[in-house]
Amino acid sequence: MAHDAPQATGPSKLVIRNIGLILSGALEKPILDGDTIVAENGKITAIGRFKDLNTEGATTIVEANGTTVAPGLIDSHVHPVAGDWTPRQNQIGWIDSNLHGGVTTMISAGEVHLPGRPKDIVGLKALAITAQRAFDNFRPGGVKVLAGAPVVEKGMVESDFKELAEAGVGLLGEIGLGSVKGGTEAATMVKWARAHGIQSTIHTGGPSIPGSGLIDKDVVLEADADIIGHINGGHTALPEAHVCELCEKSSRAIEIVHNGNERIAIAAAKMALQLKCPHRVILGTDGPAGSGVQPLGILRMVALLSSLANIPAELVFCFATGNTARIRHLNCGLIEAGRDADFVFMDRAQHTAGRTLLESVQLGDIPGVGMVMIDGIVRCGRSRNTPPATEIPVVVGGH
Ligand SMILES: [Zn+2]
Repeated sequence: MAHDAPQATGPSKLVIRNIGLILSGALEKPILDGDTIVAENGKITAIGRFKDLNTEGATTIVEANGTTVAPGLIDSHVHPVAGDWTPRQNQIGWIDSNLHGGVTTMISAGEVHLPGRPKDIVGLKALAITAQRAFDNFRPGGVKVLAGAPVVEKGMVESDFKELAEAGVGLLGEIGLGSVKGGTEAATMVKWARAHGIQSTIHTGGPSIPGSGLIDKDVVLEADADIIGHINGGHTALPEAHVCELCEKSSRAIEIVHNGNERIAIAAAKMALQLKCPHRVILGTDGPAGSGVQPLGILRMVALLSSLANIPAELVFCFATGNTARIRHLNCGLIEAGRDADFVFMDRAQHTAGRTLLESVQLGDIPGVGMVMIDGIVRCGRSRNTPPATEIPVVVGGH
């Protein structure tokens, strides 16, 4: 089982040198010029050429060996319950396993798999606050899990949202998993949540778990939640024409998940590009679910969309990093000064047909992960889950 991750003690300075390629996470400039990243006390301070940067006094030096560094991946849609255990698949260590797939931040779309989950209003609020606190206090493998996402039920009033916000809850679970299924009542919940700074997601498509229902395009449009949750269905998708209509008529985030319909995933991504709004596309797994947990789910989505929707890999990585960070107001997900020093080091998998990391992804292969860092701390070395990377970074020094 994953243990509570070590925290940095005292001032730290990280220097990552000999980087082959820096993926920024930002669509407007997905590849950065440079071979070195410096971070101090868990935050990025400089990116550029080694000779131009102040690299003195490093407490950790990572020799990247020509590998690619990207922001740690963000899974925009997960269903955690208790620490690193998921009752849905009765599996322990699933979050740590995702760390080995390059994921450094996860966002809860509701702690819906808790056995006996309370559906009364005081109970659902208590669960959300407990989940927020628990994952804030305990980070499996070091992964940042933003949890405490209440599933809204009929009978909630605005003061409930005020109370949740004041208690530190910043997210709603997917609307549609509870008793709120109509567009008008969903819109009211979204409005109340927004008034108190709580971000909302709507379940899109057919029922996923018992008790959830169909949320069709008209309900999604009327609700106007911040995130069009799993636009490609979780698991059953709306008709392709309706999904395209949602992309066109809504200005909200287009969330595409691993556990949804892959054909519609490709259609939604293509539609977003056609509409010139790639900045709205964010990626999730929707795991754990009936399909299991997917430690490589985000990397698989990147490879799927790059290879089959024909989108350059450096742009698809932004869907899994900077886009999500911007839409969800997170300080990770981008390689720029001031951001969290959360990194995934990747290289082309051994024996891929692609000559470079980006080409291998565009050919549909997932990359090999060689190291993952969160807040400037090494959380894992060569991944136990990806195919082996051709080159991997190593810690070579520091004091
Ligand atoms: Zn979900």
